[in-house]
Amino acid sequence: MENSKVRKIELLSPAGDLQRCKMAIRYGADAVYLGGRSFSLRSRASNFTNEDIAEACRYAKEYGARIHVTVNMIPHEEDLPGLEEYLKALEAMGVTAIIAASPAVIQCAKRVAPKLEVHLSTQMSVTNSDAAKFLKETLGIDRVVLARECSMPEVKKITSMLDVETEAFIHGGMCVNYSGRCTLSNRMTLRDANRGGCAQSCRWNYELFDGDTSVSNERLFTMGSKDLFAAKHIADLIKAGVSSLKIEGRMKTEYYVSAVVSAYRNLIDDLYEHDLQLSEERLLEHQKEIMRAENREVWDGFYDNPDAVHSIIYNNDSNANVSQEFLAKVVSYNREEGTCVIETRNPFVLEEVEVLSPHKEGRTFKIEWMKTGDGEMLERSKTPMVELMIPIPFEVEKEDIIRRAR
Ligand code: SF4
Repeated sequence: MENSKVRKIELLSPAGDLQRCKMAIRYGADAVYLGGRSFSLRSRASNFTNEDIAEACRYAKEYGARIHVTVNMIPHEEDLPGLEEYLKALEAMGVTAIIAASPAVIQCAKRVAPKLEVHLSTQMSVTNSDAAKFLKETLGIDRVVLARECSMPEVKKITSMLDVETEAFIHGGMCVNYSGRCTLSNRMTLRDANRGGCAQSCRWNYELFDGDTSVSNERLFTMGSKDLFAAKHIADLIKAGVSSLKIEGRMKTEYYVSAVVSAYRNLIDDLYEHDLQLSEERLLEHQKEIMRAENREVWDGFYDNPDAVHSIIYNNDSNANVSQEFLAKVVSYNREEGTCVIETRNPFVLEEVEVLSPHKEGRTFKIEWMKTGDGEMLERSKTPMVELMIPIPFEVEKEDIIRRAR
């Protein structure tokens, strides 16, 4: 394996389907992790058939990107049949790595598909170098996905002491319990969190009782965690020698994946261009960009907050809002006419909008007119998933995103 400690850090994006995978790569992800229909957690987000995974590998290769596949369920005896064939198929398709938590899966991969790298899932809760060393020596893993609960000094120590890559979470959902060590969902819904069925029971609304008496005062509470937003720690993670920065969110939308990946791509590139030192204003600009796609409360994780007292969402009135920023996607561009055809998403009028293109800062323009395929001129677009023509003052590409201007 290439020595990752001298190469540029990997930006690792989630993808819930092939379209989101392609958008993540287009917007600058170095690698994408996804789940097949078997052996993966987040089974509701695992929409990849074997053909889709093969297509994702082909597409990634064009961009010099890599595909990692989660094979991270904790299998019971009945889950094991078919595992060997699946791992062999992943290797043959050109998948770079599997992300696994079970020694059974890891040993099987080493035996039947030795070209696959094995990345140890965060479900193994590695928070110290001895654990990582033991797992490297006994299971031959190539990378450890560190527990989200690691502090920055722990990340530095584990990474510096190991002859194995480390991967750290930088953005997205957190488990309020140590990832994978929770049975709330199993007990409340009979859906096994460690076999891909987590019902996010920690995010439900609860009423508090003292005996038979409700003491909630009509104020329901949740136990969910705020989302991770570790943009301010990226320079330190790079300096620590971490190999990969991971965004969580295989259930997230195409817009979320594209916008968050794009914003982190620009931040990471900017850091490398400036010896890992950005002014406070510049860092704030990047943080604002990242937050445009975020619709939950956030905190900056355990990196310098070991007590995590502010990380819980206690009240049901502070949960996620739906973002309406995503207005349309470019279907085609006509250079001679200076127009493009777009496919609509959220409603908009003749207003100032911004184009989000890969590896570029946002470009704004005012939509002067819009018309349907039948030539009808519109003042506003209300219907999603219809094609409209608009004039545009600069070049765009198919799949570029049009969103509300700031
Ligand atoms: S119920 Fe909440 S804490 Fe438990 S596994 Fe699911 S997301 Fe994590």
